[in-house]
Amino acid sequence: MATGFVGSTKNFPFSFDMDVEDDEAGRTTPHLNKRIGSESPTSAVGAETPRELPNELSAPYEVPQFPIEQIEKKLLIQRQLNVKAAECAQSVRSYAGSEAGGAGAVFDEAARLRLPDEDEPDVVLPHFQRVAISGEDTSGVPLEDLQQASSYLVQALEMRKRYMEMSHQSFSTITARFVRSMDADAAANHTPPVKYAKSHIADHIVHPPFKDKDPWECPMPEPKGYTIRLERGVFTLYKQGEAGEEPLNYPCITLAQYIQDKNTMCNMIADGPLKSFCYRRLSYLSSKFQLHVLLNELRELASQKAVPHRDFYNIRKVDTHIHAASCMNQKHLLRFIKKTLKNHADEVVTLHKGTPMTLKAVFQSMNLSTYDLTVDMLDVHADRNTFHRFDKFNAKYNPIGESRLREVFLKTDNYMNGKYFARIINEVASDLEESKYQNAELRLSIYGKSPSEWAKLAKWAIQYNVHSDNVRWLIQIPRLYDIFKSNKIMNNFKEFLSNIFQPLFEVTNDPNSNLELHKFLTHVIGFDSVDDESKPENPMLDADAKAPEEWDDEENPPYAYYLYYMYANMTVLNHFRKEQGLNTFVLRPHCGEAGPVQHLVCGFLLAENISHGLLLRKVPVLQYLYYLAQIYIAMSPLSNNSLFLNYHRNPLPEFLARGLCITLSTDDPLQFHFTKEPLMEEYSIAAQVWKLSSCDMCELARNSVLMSGFPHEMKQYWLGPNYMKEGVAGNDITRTNVPDIRISFRHETLLDELTNIFKAKFSPSTPVPTRRAGASPTPPPFNYKAPIVVLKRPSLV
Ligand SMILES: [Zn+2]
Repeated sequence: MATGFVGSTKNFPFSFDMDVEDDEAGRTTPHLNKRIGSESPTSAVGAETPRELPNELSAPYEVPQFPIEQIEKKLLIQRQLNVKAAECAQSVRSYAGSEAGGAGAVFDEAARLRLPDEDEPDVVLPHFQRVAISGEDTSGVPLEDLQQASSYLVQALEMRKRYMEMSHQSFSTITARFVRSMDADAAANHTPPVKYAKSHIADHIVHPPFKDKDPWECPMPEPKGYTIRLERGVFTLYKQGEAGEEPLNYPCITLAQYIQDKNTMCNMIADGPLKSFCYRRLSYLSSKFQLHVLLNELRELASQKAVPHRDFYNIRKVDTHIHAASCMNQKHLLRFIKKTLKNHADEVVTLHKGTPMTLKAVFQSMNLSTYDLTVDMLDVHADRNTFHRFDKFNAKYNPIGESRLREVFLKTDNYMNGKYFARIINEVASDLEESKYQNAELRLSIYGKSPSEWAKLAKWAIQYNVHSDNVRWLIQIPRLYDIFKSNKIMNNFKEFLSNIFQPLFEVTNDPNSNLELHKFLTHVIGFDSVDDESKPENPMLDADAKAPEEWDDEENPPYAYYLYYMYANMTVLNHFRKEQGLNTFVLRPHCGEAGPVQHLVCGFLLAENISHGLLLRKVPVLQYLYYLAQIYIAMSPLSNNSLFLNYHRNPLPEFLARGLCITLSTDDPLQFHFTKEPLMEEYSIAAQVWKLSSCDMCELARNSVLMSGFPHEMKQYWLGPNYMKEGVAGNDITRTNVPDIRISFRHETLLDELTNIFKAKFSPSTPVPTRRAGASPTPPPFNYKAPIVVLKRPSLV
């Protein structure tokens, strides 16, 4: 009997707004109003609430003693709670419209923006204790500072929106709605966002999509016959017209524009008043979350308990940042090496000075037998010696310190065309399939050393059928131009770019030119940029930066330069692929793990989402912007613990509390993890160290699916048919196990923040009139067309 609960309801009738319902077994269970059809809050609207019991026998100050009294008393409390819940639900429905307060059109506009474009009549907002701050101005800074800060933040969000739309990458629909409202002309010309018809859970597929399909089946568009040319580092396509060649002008951001935007952003993050404004907002968000948890923890838990079948173990999780060459743990690799040595000792695996060498001979040359091999000898695990030593960490990729073993076992491009690597990846994939609920986005390398790399990689995947429904590929491009240049493999940076992108343009132009690559690309999500970010680099990237064909010295181009050219070529490629009806790619670089914070500015402008983002803890302006733009960040605290930041100093719990879109990922299980399920190990350690609740963990898992590049149908199957919708309408607790309360809290908080920012931006420069007596009733109308950039402070000019 949950009498304790009933008791507490009796003592504090309105502190717990949960319904108390008797189920069949006679047990009393707390339920959220939303889940109870017959007792929905609305059904009790207007119901009379008798204050006295009709059959009161005990004195009013006594606890009821007789059964009839007890039942009546319970029903009375229940009726009172229902009425209370109905009132709250009513106020919540009008909350979106009325909260903005203030006066006139400014606030009507702000209120309108809080609502999505489409009506959601059947969505019932969950009932919970909302944390709200009353008053006109809740930012705690002078109005002038607020307006200035808003102006910068809106400008930054607008920039990101432009970069994302141009490259066919996604941008938060909520934030986009607010940004769109800034410019009436743009709003009129803007193509409306894709709307997904609301599907009912009952019509939803119960079997996973793509199950019995040939994984390599894909559309075959007609060859286009365009001429492809690399001009100033970005590919341009030409069509044969009547008057000769005509360029296809796919829109793209120029280097000069990018440098200008980047400099504006860099000035912004250094602006004192803006820094303190963002810092205050972030502190507010942390505190608000703490209060939310304090008030609603029990409710969240109760609604998770009320969901049959679903718990943390059987919700979908995606490892959103993991490298293929280190996706197995050390024990797995050891077992695999031993097994291969036992069964395929006489297979020729490599060439030594031109002569073939068998696997047995390789081990004999190292004076080793299967019996000698141990995990300790393998020595691939990161330890205290790798902290702040990325060079030592990189060396850990070589089993037993031998680059030859890495070549034989962990490369796609070797004497056997990556046969062993394919085998071990397939083993990892079948482990994932067995676990059913875990998925991974593995990074495969393209180095840009030669144009044939893509063809070899695709051949590897198709020949050994390296594929799984639980796996998608990302292509990681190490920033190694300086190494190639100093080894005289290439002359300038243009060749590096050409090696990476030319094959992709060619195969999009004519899929038959390389069928294997064409098929392989349908399983590729996007590009990652990898290397040690803490390596010293020339931070200056100004308007007279050299073009890639002129970049012929041995100095490595800075991070911002690499990322721009990846973005620009990807943008043109995406336009081309879209036109051909093929899948497009996204940019998901390693960003903000170490090194200069300016890398995070590049990530903000160019990337759909990033890995690590640790340095956001040092830049409040960017952290707040990553929040407002809802940019997903794949964090790997165990990896950071071995390389750059001790576990207990990791900002993940703080970021999560503030509402940044965080996921948990493993990075390199070979170096950091001990168990067969590295992703679960990552969740488990985070949960223990930071005392994450089940709701937090499920939220992280849901984020990971949303961030991932798995197909739309798969995400629908995993998260529910309406997952693209905003707020509670997009959540299906029976699939995600995330309570609607948490989703609603996040959604309303984001709307509040955006409303604050855009309200201040919209409002006239004179103080906002208050509703108090004697105040001016009509503020000046909206000035939609006011210039966005208002650079008042000398430091920003
Ligand atoms: Zn990584």
